[in-house]
Amino acid sequence: MENVRALGNDIYEIDTRMAGYRGITAGYLILGDHPCLVETGTSTSAPIVRDALTHLGVGPADLATVVVTHIHLDHAGGVGDIAGFYPKAQIVVHEKGARHLADPARLMASARMVYGDRLDTLFGTLSPTDAHRIRALGDTGAIDLGGGRRLESHHSPGHAKHHVGLVDTVSGDLYVGDAAGVYLPETGDLRPATPPPDFDLETALNSLSLFQALAPQRLLFSHYGPVDAVRDTLDRSAEELRVWVDLTREAQADGLDLDHAVAMVRERTRTRYRALDGDEENRERFELLSGAESNVAGILHWLDRVPS
Ligand SMILES: [Zn+2]
Repeated sequence: MENVRALGNDIYEIDTRMAGYRGITAGYLILGDHPCLVETGTSTSAPIVRDALTHLGVGPADLATVVVTHIHLDHAGGVGDIAGFYPKAQIVVHEKGARHLADPARLMASARMVYGDRLDTLFGTLSPTDAHRIRALGDTGAIDLGGGRRLESHHSPGHAKHHVGLVDTVSGDLYVGDAAGVYLPETGDLRPATPPPDFDLETALNSLSLFQALAPQRLLFSHYGPVDAVRDTLDRSAEELRVWVDLTREAQADGLDLDHAVAMVRERTRTRYRALDGDEENRERFELLSGAESNVAGILHWLDRVPS
């Protein structure tokens, strides 16, 4: 199947074809005694993810667990649909995100404010999941994959207050969600993801230090794919955060409004990313997943709350 790729250790990357794009949002299936899906993708991607699971031999009664790194709609928008397709699956999420999966009304309303009409084409609608099927994670937690294999969760806020990283005890892979930013495999570019309202620099850097301390074998980005150079990549993630925060701080000190701050940061970071010199599609991917406007708005929102 064209959108499924084996990554070893019974792990499969599934291109969820978010909003029709290739290679921007991945889900992962860990195929063992208790098959586990990491990230559902959007609601509109749910049928594509189901087809991939069917192709991999996972039927309606077989999926044991669905876990999301956080509840942003590109990662968890399909939870309600997938829970419907797989009635035996338990849905696992950090405790600060759990109630939004049971009752998505507020989450959808705030997403509608941010995205307007684009919400429907980009993400679709997150459907509610029965509360009794949701398991909330604390600071740490574990998912039983069968045969002694586990997925261990680590609260990793900064991008979102309900974000978790997940370590596979057999492969040593770390599912980084958006905590390490957005990685484009085509260009090797890495850009931070610092959206409002949760972004917090110190918290985000602490989460990256935690990831370093976990010493994973490989990083699995939701956007997008596996990266072997763990230490260097996490160092770059921290550096990227500092660059964007420093520039945004400068723009704020110069008294620029949001539009001018975005233009300034966009211009000053342009040469950092090969994607921005390349084809239009790579540029679009970056803007969709870690858009300059969203990043600068998130950093400004944080700067407004912290004493300088
Ligand atoms: Zn994301």
